[in-house]
Amino acid sequence: MEGWLEQFPLMQDMTDEKPVFWVNPDYEADFVFQLDDELLRQASERFYRFQPVLKSIFGEIASFEGIIESPITDISKMKIRLETVYETTVKGNVLLKRDDLLPIAGSIKARGGFHEVLAFAEKLAREHGLLTDGESDYSCILSEEARQLFNQYHIVVGSTGNLGLSIGMIGSSLGFRVSVHMSHDAKQWKKDLLRKNGVTVVEHLSDYSVAVEQARAICSADEKSYFVDDENSLLLFAGYAVAALELKRQLADLNIDVNCNNPLYVYLPCGVGGGPGGITYGLKKVFGKHVHCYFAEPLQSPSMLLGLMTKQHDSISVYDIGLTNQTEADGLAVGRPSKFVGKLLKKMLAGIYTVSDYELLQLMKTLNETEEIFLEPSALAGTKGPCVTGKEGIHLVWATGGSIIPNNVKKQYLQKAKEL
Ligand SMILES: *Cc1c(COP(=O)(O)O)cnc(C)c1O
Repeated sequence: MEGWLEQFPLMQDMTDEKPVFWVNPDYEADFVFQLDDELLRQASERFYRFQPVLKSIFGEIASFEGIIESPITDISKMKIRLETVYETTVKGNVLLKRDDLLPIAGSIKARGGFHEVLAFAEKLAREHGLLTDGESDYSCILSEEARQLFNQYHIVVGSTGNLGLSIGMIGSSLGFRVSVHMSHDAKQWKKDLLRKNGVTVVEHLSDYSVAVEQARAICSADEKSYFVDDENSLLLFAGYAVAALELKRQLADLNIDVNCNNPLYVYLPCGVGGGPGGITYGLKKVFGKHVHCYFAEPLQSPSMLLGLMTKQHDSISVYDIGLTNQTEADGLAVGRPSKFVGKLLKKMLAGIYTVSDYELLQLMKTLNETEEIFLEPSALAGTKGPCVTGKEGIHLVWATGGSIIPNNVKKQYLQKAKEL
C-alpha cells in the first residue's frame, strides 16, 4: 500500500473517495488484440439464427421481432445541463446508446447473457442430433424433445442482479432449470420477477465475487450443470461485442462518419468488465484508431481501474485499498475485476474515471428532467464522460439499464435524488 501511493499518485484520491480520471499510459489507439477473428462474426450470426426462436418465445411482447438491439438518441438538452453542472464545454454531439431498452432483460446483459445461453442450447441440440450442421430451421429448439433435453440441464450464474435476470429469463423460457446466486446488492424486485418465472434464486449475504465463487463451486460438482462465468466467459464477451456491428450500421444510417477528423468517444459503465470490455473489443475491431473507449466506475468499486493501473488485474480488490464496494450503482458493485478483460484491454482502453453515488443520482434526476429518460444508477456512469475527457468528436454514452424497473422503485430513486 505504502509503495503504491508513491508509484500511483491517483491512489491517494481513490482511497480518499475523490473522483479520479486515469489516462491509460499504455494506450495505443491503433492496437487491436488478435483474439479470434471469428469471434464477432460467429456471435453475430448466432443472434441471427436464433431470431425466429426469440420472436416465438417472447411473442407476447408487442413489435418484438426477435432482434436484440437498441436505438441511439441525441441528448442535446442533457448536454447543456452537463456543461453547467461540470462547468465545462462539451465539444461535439452527445448520443445515448439505449441498452436500457434492450428487450426482455432491460439491460446490457441481454447481449452477453442471451448469447451464452443460446450458444449452450445450440451445442446441446447439435450433440443430441436435434440440429444438424448447416441446418437453418431452428424451430426444433422449441420442440418438446428439445425442452426435455434442456430440462435435464441446470444453468447456474452468480450476479449482482441484471445478469441473473437475463440468464434466468432466457434460460427458463427455453426449458432449462436455472439458479441465480445473488449478491447482497441485488434488488428485491429482480428476485421476485425471477421466482415468478420459475428460476431458483439463492440469496447471499456476501458481495458479487463471493456469490460467483459459490455458484462456481456448486457447479463443479454436477456434470449436468452449466456455469455462466461472468469473470471468465468468452461467450458473454462475444455477445457484448456484437453491439459494435450494430452501432456501425446505426451511425451510417445517421450519416455520421467516424474518421480522424471526427473520432468517436465511448463511455461505458464497468462492473466486472465483461460488458464494457466486449463492446470495446468490438468497437476497436470495427472503428480501429478512430474510436476511444473509457470505462466509468463508482468511487467505492473502481475494480478495473485498480487492476489495470497496478497491473495486478484480478489479484487485487478494492477492499485491499480500504474501499467498501458499497454503492447505489448495484450493477457495478464489483470489488475484483474479470480474470481476463483487463489483460486483454491493457493497450485498447483509453482510460477510466470514477463517479460518486451523489453524482449518479444527480445525473439520474437531470436526465429524467431534460430528456424524460429514466436509467438505473449504474447506467448513468457514462453520462459524465464527455465532461471528463474534454475531447472533441462524437460522444457516445452507453446507457446500460433501467427500463424494466417497476414504477414504484423508479419513484423511490427519483425521490432519493431529490432529497440530496
Ligand atoms: C452489468 C452491468 C454493467 C457492467 O457490465 P460488467 O460486465 O459487469 O462490467 C453496467 N451497467 C449495468 C446496468 C449492468 O447491469
